[in-house]
Amino acid sequence: MIQGGCRCGEVRYTLPFDEMPRVYCCHCLDCQTWSASAFTQQVIFAEGSLVANGPIVIFDLVRADGAVSRQHVCGVCHTRIFNTNTKRPGIAALRAGTLDRSNEIVPVAHIWVKRKQPWIIVPEDVPQFEENAPPAKFASILIGYEA
Ligand SMILES: [Zn+2]
Ligand SMILES: [Zn+2]
Repeated sequence: MIQGGCRCGEVRYTLPFDEMPRVYCCHCLDCQTWSASAFTQQVIFAEGSLVANGPIVIFDLVRADGAVSRQHVCGVCHTRIFNTNTKRPGIAALRAGTLDRSNEIVPVAHIWVKRKQPWIIVPEDVPQFEENAPPAKFASILIGYEA
């Protein structure tokens, strides 16, 4: 099991991974603004496989295209734990910086690098994409699944 939690400690969660899951970074403007930082670190997982204790509250953002991005955050300190999107039913994106072992993260891909801050140098052997990665390619990188 992999564990994590929010900044204040009220929310704790587990995910059914045997080892550290694969993390990707998104450098898009939305992720920069939403994280108030340079990029987000995310792990894709099956919605429902995360088991959380504590006061998780939900904030919905209706996007311009009508899709709803649902943020699951700690109700006390407002750390964002994960989100879902009505465009991708059954799939959730964890904020990997909330993992207890976040110091072990070595991202396996970077997306939206056309918007990345220039001081960030992506290692040459790590796949990077100007915008979103093609879905089949992205799946093979994140879960080793060849479409
Ligand atoms: Zn908290
Ligand atoms: Zn993004």
